[in-house]
Amino acid sequence: MQIHVANLSAEGLRLEDRIDPGKLPDLAALQQNEDCRFEGPLTVSLRVMPSVGMFQVEGLIKGKVILACSRCLAVTECPLRNTFRLTFARRIPGDAADSPPEAVELQAEELGVVLFEGDQIDFRDIIQEQVILAIPMQPICRQDCRGLCARCGANLNDGPCDCRGDNVDPRLAILKTLKFDS
Ligand SMILES: [Zn+2]
Ligand SMILES: [Zn+2]
Repeated sequence: MQIHVANLSAEGLRLEDRIDPGKLPDLAALQQNEDCRFEGPLTVSLRVMPSVGMFQVEGLIKGKVILACSRCLAVTECPLRNTFRLTFARRIPGDAADSPPEAVELQAEELGVVLFEGDQIDFRDIIQEQVILAIPMQPICRQDCRGLCARCGANLNDGPCDCRGDNVDPRLAILKTLKFDS
């Protein structure tokens, strides 16, 4: 997903694309490590607007990701959805004279600006980044998932296990009086 910005009109440009997550290296790596699995293509919509030498980009990414439930480890399909708004600015070659490129890059990042070179913006890195940000950190298979018994590992969604908590170590008994929301 790339655009040429040299002859971008004042009204800007809309782009829609379906992208195979396996073709994006960072996402492919996540699948390879079995951190998650993407289901179907990602739908990416972008709006690019020129603004005084820079480009404002609004994006919407949608897709599906398969993760292990963080409580019971069941295979769970989660919707992916992320909207973002970024400013793209052309890297000025002269900048390199007084500050090394990494410093310029860092400074730009702090300002929320993405730098590009030449007349072409490639959105691939941004798309990968935004997809990764949208992956739930603690996916759950359902709101009331009971998780696994910490003692015997039984899936408590299938019913109570035999531990029943009757013979809890007295030092841990205090934990039974606490309520956890997570
Ligand atoms: Zn679960
Ligand atoms: Zn148990």
